[in-house]
Amino acid sequence: MNINAYAKINIGLDVIGKRADGYHEVRMIMQTIDLHDELDVSPVEEPGIFLTTNRKDLPVNEDNLICKAAKLMMDEYALPGGIKVRLVKNIPVAAGLAGGSTDAAAVIRAINELYGLGLSTDEMAQTGVRIGADVPYCIMGGTALSEGIGEILTPLSSFPECDIVLAKPPVSVSTAYVYKHLKLDGIVHPDIDGIITGIETGDIYRIARGMGNVLESVTVPDEPVIGSIKDVMTAGGCVATLMSGSGPSVFGLFDSKDKADAVYEELRRSQPGLDIFITRTYDPNH
Ligand code: ATP
Repeated sequence: MNINAYAKINIGLDVIGKRADGYHEVRMIMQTIDLHDELDVSPVEEPGIFLTTNRKDLPVNEDNLICKAAKLMMDEYALPGGIKVRLVKNIPVAAGLAGGSTDAAAVIRAINELYGLGLSTDEMAQTGVRIGADVPYCIMGGTALSEGIGEILTPLSSFPECDIVLAKPPVSVSTAYVYKHLKLDGIVHPDIDGIITGIETGDIYRIARGMGNVLESVTVPDEPVIGSIKDVMTAGGCVATLMSGSGPSVFGLFDSKDKADAVYEELRRSQPGLDIFITRTYDPNH
């Protein structure tokens, strides 16, 4: 069975506090984009999980979220035999795009179909959250408000279709480091409710006014390349530009394909070493 695993971006990312257990309480707007990995999932007689991939630097053992998800499903539902997965990785790794979580979500969905388990989205999400906080959202896809520590999901109306330029600079940013160094005192918060109003009214400019990612307060000073990508997006007339998740990927939303194409070319010309994509918002549920 062939299944696509779509990346996500954060249209808004706010941290509203830190809980007693050390976890940060977030309010995030999640959006699926058309950039995706391709998985071929098939049952095999031999027990075990057998993963192959085009990316040599990815683990193919239980450290890969695909193997974790497949094993969890096989054990939970006492399924016979094993699972073979071929992964074509197109989503940049460790980029703030939920690449691993979306692969895990795709495997859970595929196993549900292949074995006729008849699980609802909620039931699959309950298994998925044991792999990672972003997995339930990836199972659902589309446009959603994510709260709590990322596990409380509210689906929102479809995001207005728009072109996106996405760039991943060749730097690595640790999510744990970013949250550890985040200082909430005096920080400018994004207007998450304003973004939701913009989504409900299909007004991309209203959405743009509310956009923000508090984690940029840590990553932009640390990694100047993030700011310079944003500058190219802004100079090229994007509607808004933001870092996704804890980075380092940066995206720009555009109201014209011509502007998006021109920014893509400009980034290629001026910033060697970037992974750059032209993509779009995507709604897997419609
Ligand atoms: P998030 O947005 O959820 O923080 P991310 O996009 O920043 O995720 P991933 O691409 O999921 O990060 O990769 C994070 C780590 O997970 C990498 O170090 C990678 O080795 C590991 N990993 C395990 N399984 C996968 C997978 N299927 N695809 C990508 N990375 C994986």
